[in-house]
Amino acid sequence: MDFVVLEAGPRAAAAVGEWSHVRLFSSWSELLDPAARRLLDASETWTAPDDTAYPTGGEWRDGYLQPLADLLAGATGGQVRYDSRVVGVGRAGRDLMVDSGRESDPFAVHIETSQGRERLLASAVVDASGTWTRPNPLGADGYPALGETENADRITYGIPDFADQSIAARYAGKHVAVAGKGASAQGVLVGLATLSATDAGAGTRVSWLLRRPSVGDAFGGGDNDQLEQRGKLGQDAEAAATSGIVTTLTQFRTAAVAAQADGRLGVTSLDGQSLSDVDEVIVVTGFRPDFGFLSEVRLDLDPALGAARVLADQIHPDHHSCGDVAPHGHRELTQPEQGLFLVGMKSYGRAPSFLAMTGYEQVRSVVAALDGDLEAADRVDLVLPDTGVCNGAGAFDDPDALAELGAAIGDSCCGGAAAEPQLITLGANTGAAGTASGSCG
Ligand SMILES: Cc1cc2nc3c(=O)[nH]c(=O)nc-3n(C[C@H](O)[C@H](O)[C@H](O)COP(=O)(O)OP(=O)(O)OC[C@H]3O[C@@H](n4cnc5c(N)ncnc54)[C@H](O)[C@@H]3O)c2cc1C
Repeated sequence: MDFVVLEAGPRAAAAVGEWSHVRLFSSWSELLDPAARRLLDASETWTAPDDTAYPTGGEWRDGYLQPLADLLAGATGGQVRYDSRVVGVGRAGRDLMVDSGRESDPFAVHIETSQGRERLLASAVVDASGTWTRPNPLGADGYPALGETENADRITYGIPDFADQSIAARYAGKHVAVAGKGASAQGVLVGLATLSATDAGAGTRVSWLLRRPSVGDAFGGGDNDQLEQRGKLGQDAEAAATSGIVTTLTQFRTAAVAAQADGRLGVTSLDGQSLSDVDEVIVVTGFRPDFGFLSEVRLDLDPALGAARVLADQIHPDHHSCGDVAPHGHRELTQPEQGLFLVGMKSYGRAPSFLAMTGYEQVRSVVAALDGDLEAADRVDLVLPDTGVCNGAGAFDDPDALAELGAAIGDSCCGGAAAEPQLITLGANTGAAGTASGSCG
């Protein structure tokens, strides 16, 4: 098959390269796709890693992802292009509204490179662009909190490389607010606790901001996790959280960040909790997919997660945190736009639990289908390691917590200084007439 891989970055796995210092909780044996491994083994230029070792992101890229890309670039019919950012996918000559020809005409893929803009034609598009470029903001509404953008110099998204001295110096001895509860947040708590135990890091203190009413299952399944290192990360994070340097603030839904007179930050929540003298904020609140370049193709996604619809119930962290997901492939990942597939981390939308081995099996099935081998495409074989915590995190607001929050907002409604709900109309013409200026009903 003719194929072209379009990578926005300067080399393979540009996103993984940005978290190259993070050690994966999957071992090499869980990070090598079987078909890719066969190709690499046959190439004789590749040295297989130790299956039982746990690579960092950088080792995964250099020891596997880049060699595989190099191999594919030399394959018959294959092209791997770097510095090629996809900025639009549509049907050639047809915008989103046009029905005719959608099933027969090629895709037009618009790309931006340092040499300018290009348009490629393709019979199918497999979008494996991940979610890395779109971290969730600190703001609880899903948009940046007030002041979040203005104070960006003290706010970091993702796991800092605490082993890098210049980066560690930014946090050593400081008051650091950490927002988020997933594996990345756990990595940050462990990193800061480790830093605080060094001479330079003495006095480091952490305010851990959780949107939920309790820590709940944040630390995962521990010894029950079938991914040993994922379980251990949770245990280490729990030890860090109870080590004395961490203060946990629950139900902290960030409303605003403001610079104090001394340059440090004050952070406030929607229900009036406030945190002062914050030197640095680390935001590890997950990621969301970018659908901007898919605006001219027809998608059918779960409205909450932005994930493939059929997967949503099995990956929504509120009601299913087991980690197991039914085997799925081209049939589940296909979109109303025939020939378009969303795979990899992007297929999970905002859900946090994606594993590389899921993506490998997804892509194997999709490519077999594109090649016309439906027997192979339908034979999806996927058994994922259990996390050891299967209940899900539960409803976002438990009744008690909701009552408390309701009281805080309700008391101030119609006259209070805090949240005063209003009916806002966007647009000045139709519908604006008769709009109430403020309503608490
Ligand atoms: C810190 C961290 C640790 C993780 N640890 C594990 C682990 O231990 N085990 C595990 O199984 N999984 C782990 N994951 C989850 C997951 O397996 C990885 O994120 C994996 O890299 C996802 O692969 P992907 O190909 O879907 O997306 P990505 O790796 O994000 O790759 C997407 C690529 O698309 C490129 N791109 C984006 N937009 C465009 C565009 N418009 N045009 C062209 N190119 C574009 C990006 O530059 C990037 O290189 C981890 C994730 C993170 C963030």
